[in-house]
Amino acid sequence: MQTETIAAIATAAGTAGVGIVRISGEQAAEVAGRVFSSPSGKEPGRYKTHTVHYGYVHDDGQPVDEALLILMRAPHSFTAEDTVEIQCHGGSFLVRRVLETVLKHGARLAEPGEFTKRAFLNGRIDLSQAEAVMSLIQSQNEYAWKASLNQLKGRVSEEIGELRAEILYQAAFLESALDDPEHISLEGYNEKLYPHLQKLEERLCRLIASFDNGRLMREGIKTVIIGKPNAGKSSLLNLLAGEERAIVTEVAGTTRDILEETVLLDGIPLRILDTAGIRHTEDLVESIGIERALHHVKDADMILYVADALAGFDENDEQIWRHICEKQVIVLINKSDLLDQEQADERLSALAAQLPKERRDEPPILFSAKDGDGLEALADELKKRFFFGGLSWDESVVITNVRHKNLLKEALESLRLVEKSIEDQMPEDFYSIDLMDAYKRLGLILGEEIEDDLVDEIFRRFCMGK
Ligand code: GDP
Repeated sequence: MQTETIAAIATAAGTAGVGIVRISGEQAAEVAGRVFSSPSGKEPGRYKTHTVHYGYVHDDGQPVDEALLILMRAPHSFTAEDTVEIQCHGGSFLVRRVLETVLKHGARLAEPGEFTKRAFLNGRIDLSQAEAVMSLIQSQNEYAWKASLNQLKGRVSEEIGELRAEILYQAAFLESALDDPEHISLEGYNEKLYPHLQKLEERLCRLIASFDNGRLMREGIKTVIIGKPNAGKSSLLNLLAGEERAIVTEVAGTTRDILEETVLLDGIPLRILDTAGIRHTEDLVESIGIERALHHVKDADMILYVADALAGFDENDEQIWRHICEKQVIVLINKSDLLDQEQADERLSALAAQLPKERRDEPPILFSAKDGDGLEALADELKKRFFFGGLSWDESVVITNVRHKNLLKEALESLRLVEKSIEDQMPEDFYSIDLMDAYKRLGLILGEEIEDDLVDEIFRRFCMGK
């Protein structure tokens, strides 16, 4: 079915300046020739590759739109097949009309992700790179973009490739030694293999752990700001968002809606949900707000706990702590601008001593939502807790795909079985089965020996025209 010529709209729906219809397959230039003519009268099939031509799209002689046509000959195109892109005016009716014309004259409508699938099936990119195209499109911030771009450039594939090569070497050595014991001795082999396995496992663990950081990068650290009324929650949100988004008010308990806002703090994406504050109340709207806040606490990666430096903690705080006991919590002692240095230090140690016992080694941060004091300390604390102290995504290999994470885990399990066989002094032929299993699991990340229906499933998740 590889030879079928497919077409789809490659640009977003809705009115835009330009719309692109992409055609890919052996007949791409021929189909284009049936619907496009340029003033020179030259057939698209005779255009030089990677050149742009002006002309008209027509449907059986009826003009449809003025357009530019780009021809990219195989293998130098996204799909590695002959590809034509028609750039027409961007109205959604018009672009659809151009696509219909192309379909009427010999192309088939592409399935979602089919262009990328062809790039994979034609060997231009491996499966993990194809998946990177999808996460690249979906990236919402700089880190997600960089991680996906690294993956597309093949960093993940390289790392997986190295791991596989080492595993394969061991398996091959074992096999040959078992086949030819007279010439290849396995004497002392276990002692060498064992530490080697541990190193491989460590690398796998690091990749698996990068998935969680990858999620935080892509989606932002899900953050809930809590604290009693008037502690300064809305002011904090405004400070982070950099403009007056939430309504700041001096009347207790008026921030009733939960506002979600994604902000960048020193490059760290935070997805912030501001809440009405957790406390007992008779007010109906207010209690709904609190239930929602508690619901959000459950899914949160982190709680920013805002306390008023002047008011200190009381029994309401104790209740709040009970709801967030299992969470990452950063305590901000707010309104520090109202205190001089000595008073501030005093408040800080007094409040730190009032924290629940298990929180005492996480010192609160003196903060002022009014003038931004403490923001830097907050950013440092976030890096320490979520990103091993620093953000260096440019260089590190980050897993952003749950399919990859699961396969890495399975590969890790198989290597652990080899380790166990060594510990239990099992015969060597036991090892190679599990080694090869790990090798295959890693291969599935790159798309080797992967079942057709799984390939279809993966590419179906792509958007149309990609
Ligand atoms: P919320 O109820 O927790 O959302 O508190 P708000 O953000 O509405 O703040 C309550 C009051 O405290 C407002 O009058 C703010 O201007 C004031 N406030 C908040 N943060 C600070 C701060 O860091 N310093 C000072 N001096 N006032 C603050």
